[in-house]
This record gives sequence, structure tokens and C-alpha cells, in this order.
Amino acid sequence: MSGFTDKVVLVTGGNSGIGRAAAVQFAAGGAKVLIAARRAEASRAVVAEIEAVGGDAYAIQCDVTKSADCDSAVEACLERFGGLDVLFNNAGIIFRDKSALDTTDEHWAQTIAVNATGTFLMSRAAVAAMVARGGGAIVNNASYFGLVGGRGAAAYCASKGAVVLLTKAMALDHAGQGVRINCICPGSVDTPMLRGEMEEMGGADSVRHLFEEKHPLGRIATPDEIAAAVLYLASDEAAFITGAALPIDGGLTAG
Ligand code: NAD
Repeated sequence: MSGFTDKVVLVTGGNSGIGRAAAVQFAAGGAKVLIAARRAEASRAVVAEIEAVGGDAYAIQCDVTKSADCDSAVEACLERFGGLDVLFNNAGIIFRDKSALDTTDEHWAQTIAVNATGTFLMSRAAVAAMVARGGGAIVNNASYFGLVGGRGAAAYCASKGAVVLLTKAMALDHAGQGVRINCICPGSVDTPMLRGEMEEMGGADSVRHLFEEKHPLGRIATPDEIAAAVLYLASDEAAFITGAALPIDGGLTAG
């Protein structure tokens, strides 16, 4: 999608999977992209990929569970690119436990910290910068597991349900300041996260069909398909959309 010329876009977890696809697409649309993620080398590789085709990108090491890191990422946007227009809160983790009884204190705390608290901390830092610029757009990466429950994913579902309602609450708080806030609720997407889950279940070759079959469209999504919806929600074409939770799930939650 074009239309991001000179816009400044911050992508958390932008060095892998859906985040990487979105960073590349935003840059191709003319945006200056700041990748905020933990693994510096992987982030540098995405920056190099964007620069190789004439795009503008920069990477900063950031753990979204730390408010100081989130504030630094937003400050880096201001210092390097002069402002912040779009935030894609994408960083996320999952632990597949057999049930809530197997969910350790550590799994629970880490999942809530990255998926829910991280989204809040980065949003809070970003809104202030966006308001100073006259407005902006935030897209949060929730999940279909933020809309319906799933077995063996109590902490993940709780964290993604929190992202859905954080999206709606903040959309109300900041609509009057020109900041639109929406979230996406993807079904299964072919990324390192999903492939890790498949490995734990016995390997992609033997279990991939289980993920494909549960989607009415009969397949899983590509990261680029999810990124395209992120760009739409962040764009001026979506100027009247705020507080929405958009399923991108091949019909999985349709009924
Ligand atoms: P991925 O593992 O490829 O990417 C996750 C990214 O988040 C990585 O860059 C990782 O380093 C980063 N990250 C994790 N913890 C972080 C932290 N504390 N600070 C900063 N960065 C951190 O997986 P993905 O599938 O591309 O996941 C992206 C998002 O999409 C996640 O929020 C995930 O929950 C969501 N999602 C994925 C699927 C799927 O099937 N793959 C489905 C629905 C939602």
C-alpha cells in the first residue's frame, strides 16, 4: 500500500514474522520505519533488507516489558525521524501449556508482561508523541485467541483479551486527540511462532493440516496478508475506524 510517504512508523518485534512483513511493507509504502525488538542482529538484517531497496529504516534494542525501553524507542523516532505517526504493537509470545494447571507463575507473568503490559507501555509512550504531532494511529496485534478461548492457552488468551479491550478503552480516551487505535485478531499465521508450536506438537509435516483444517478457508495465513490489514488500519483510508477488533482468520471465529 502506498500513502505512507514521510510517515514515521514504529514496529515492535519487527525483526520476525508478521512484524518483519509489516516493517517491509510500510517502508515500501514510503514510511521511515523504526524497528524496536530484542535481538539486535535480526533487527539489523531487516534494516539492511529495507535499505537494499531504497527504503529508510533504523533499529533499536527494546524489551517492551520495560517502560524505559518503550520511552527510548519513541524518543528514537523523534530524534532520528522527527516524530511518530504510526505504532504497530506486534511483539508477542506464547507458551502452550496442557491446561491452566500446567501454567507456571513464570509463564503467566511473562505472557501478560509482553503481550498485555508491553502493548500498554508502548502505547502510552506513543500517544503522547502522536498528540504533540496532531494525531496518529496505533494497531495492536491481538489474536483470534483474544476473541474466543483456546485449549492450553489460558495465559495467552487472557493477555490477548486484554489487548482487545485495551484497544477499545484507549480508542475512547484518545479519539478526541486524533489518535485512532485498532487491533487485529489473526488466525494461524505461518511465522516462527507458529512453526515453534508445530515442532512441539510433533513437527510441521505431521500437524500443519490440523491448523489448516480449522480455518473455513482451508489454510493458514501468510505474514504478508496480515501486514496488509495492518497497513490499511494505519492508513488514511481507515480514517473513520477506531476501537475496532478486526478478525483476519479465514472465517475461524465466524461461527
Ligand atoms: P514471531 O515469534 O515471529 O515474532 C514475535 C516478535 O516479538 C519477535 O520479533 C520477538 O523477538 C518479539 N518479542 C517477543 N518478546 C519481546 C519483548 N519482550 N520485547 C520486544 N520484542 C519481543 O511471531 P509472530 O507470529 O510474527 O507474532 C507476532 C504477533 O502476532 C504476536 O503478538 C502474536 O501473538 C501475534 N499472533 C500470531 C499468530 C500466529 O499464528 N503466528 C496468530 C495470532 C496472533
